[in-house]
Amino acid sequence: MNQAFLVRPNKLFTPGPVNIPNRVALASISACYHHRTKVFSDILTETLELMKPLFGTVRPVYPIHTTGRGAMEGVVNNILTPNDKAIAICNGSFGTMAATMMDRNGIPNVRCYESWTDTVNLEYLEKLIQDEKATAITVVHNDTSNGLVNPIWEIGKLARKYDLMLIVDFVSAAGCTPFKFDEWGVDAVVTASQKGLMSPAGMSFCVLSEKAENACATIESRDFYIDFKSIKKSIEKNGQTPGSTPVSLVLAVHEAVKMIHEEGVENVFARHHDLACRTRAALQAMGFKLFPETCNFRSDSLTVATPPEGVDIAKLTSYMQSEYHLQIGKGLGDYANQTIRIAHMGYCYIEDMIQCIAALESAMATLGWNQTVGKGLQAFLAYSDK
Ligand code: PLP
Repeated sequence: MNQAFLVRPNKLFTPGPVNIPNRVALASISACYHHRTKVFSDILTETLELMKPLFGTVRPVYPIHTTGRGAMEGVVNNILTPNDKAIAICNGSFGTMAATMMDRNGIPNVRCYESWTDTVNLEYLEKLIQDEKATAITVVHNDTSNGLVNPIWEIGKLARKYDLMLIVDFVSAAGCTPFKFDEWGVDAVVTASQKGLMSPAGMSFCVLSEKAENACATIESRDFYIDFKSIKKSIEKNGQTPGSTPVSLVLAVHEAVKMIHEEGVENVFARHHDLACRTRAALQAMGFKLFPETCNFRSDSLTVATPPEGVDIAKLTSYMQSEYHLQIGKGLGDYANQTIRIAHMGYCYIEDMIQCIAALESAMATLGWNQTVGKGLQAFLAYSDK
């Protein structure tokens, strides 16, 4: 065990994994339940029930023993076949990931948008749906690579108009941003445990529409491991999952969603929005440019920004890590050396972001990048939506 970590813990501002509340960490090791007991089934059932408002649904929430990528791949394989043709909205690296998953699994798809510069243009998308005679859309709600939010509420209208299967990656916004599965006309939505759900990685959760459930029931080529027909059967029978359930992860998520309800789901969403607005104001005051510069909808889970001229991102992030024990995210893909990603997601309150902004400006000043310490913090504190 690294003793230094125990004395001076690392604080995460990375866009997943995020800091785990003590309550959640303790709950995860609080008991050694067998996964085939009533006491454990009751905990799992309550967890899934408490998660419904995070998805905006009255439909069942299904647990999946895997991380977000596994869950997305499972969904794709359970409800699409080689006879489908999906439009994969690729305006971020996780959007492209869904396209790659479909390529690997023999599901025809057309990539829509390969640049990260904006949210999807609906007229362009509609034309593509018509031209390609598409049967499905895959899209990321909150792309963690660039902080773009795609307007699922509008994309859902197109999906309904053309009777397409709409599959949404909601991995980095569940428990941070409202989602309205039932109202928006979504067919499948996936999230994972290590972001807004404030738990270790390893569990995912999914909601399926009736249409998607019917597809799962009929497609023979669906996965063996992630088979929603058998997950549904098992959940409906006795509130359990097929195979050995990662009990400690379920205990963690159970505690985390209880905490979200104790604070109030709407209050949690409002806190994320407030922290996002404050962080954007702080970074702009410090000379950063929000990324991408043109963007209709920005994330409440993380802020992505391009630093002022001359800032060496690798040096900055490693200095914050080594001197302040505080980890922020570097950019991804083509923007790895051009952007930073700061999460204000999950177990993150105003005092945490004050610490993060203060550390960021202190690091920049110390490294000689012309920062007046306090400028960012002032903008952070002064922000008001009134
Ligand atoms: N989708 C999004 C939007 C993500 O941010 C991530 C992880 O960062 C994933 C999918 C992949 O999830 P996991 O790392 O849990 O497999």
